[in-house]
Amino acid sequence: MTAPVRTCVGCGEAAAQAKLARVRVGDGARVVVDVKRSGGRGAWLHRGAGCLERALKRRSFARAFRRGDVTWDADALRGELTVVVGRDVVGRD
Ligand SMILES: [Zn+2]
Repeated sequence: MTAPVRTCVGCGEAAAQAKLARVRVGDGARVVVDVKRSGGRGAWLHRGAGCLERALKRRSFARAFRRGDVTWDADALRGELTVVVGRDVVGRD
């Protein structure tokens, strides 16, 4: 069985979906970590903090979601990513 592969918006490398955290555009066009795995357009990010920081610095989210109006709260994203990693240690980087 082949695991789904997604591309990390932080480093641009492909990885098994299980090793990535999903982010999506939430209320007010704000990027949030998709803790509940809800639908909609998503992007994927390695669970390590390094790729989140890279994505923030390179403004990768606007590109990943193909819209220029997205915003994000860097501290909130860091916190949300920690929640996801803490809940599911499998695939932790
Ligand atoms: Zn990455």
